[in-house]
Amino acid sequence: MYTLTCKDMGVGTCDYVAKGKTKEEVIRMLEEHAMKEHPKEIKDMMAKNTKEEVEDMMADKIKEEM
Ligand SMILES: [Zn+2]
Repeated sequence: MYTLTCKDMGVGTCDYVAKGKTKEEVIRMLEEHAMKEHPKEIKDMMAKNTKEEVEDMMADKIKEEM
């Protein structure tokens, strides 16, 4: 089981946790959540980084839970 939280991505006010069986699934879940709930943060992030860079950052922050 992999998890990634909004807090890990710098949205300190949000308690959302994406959980999935693969890293790809977790990244998709957090992207969908962030586009709905944090459009401003996404815009800021996309202005500074490419989609690939953002996904690399997400992949780096994913935690593996047993
Ligand atoms: Zn969030």
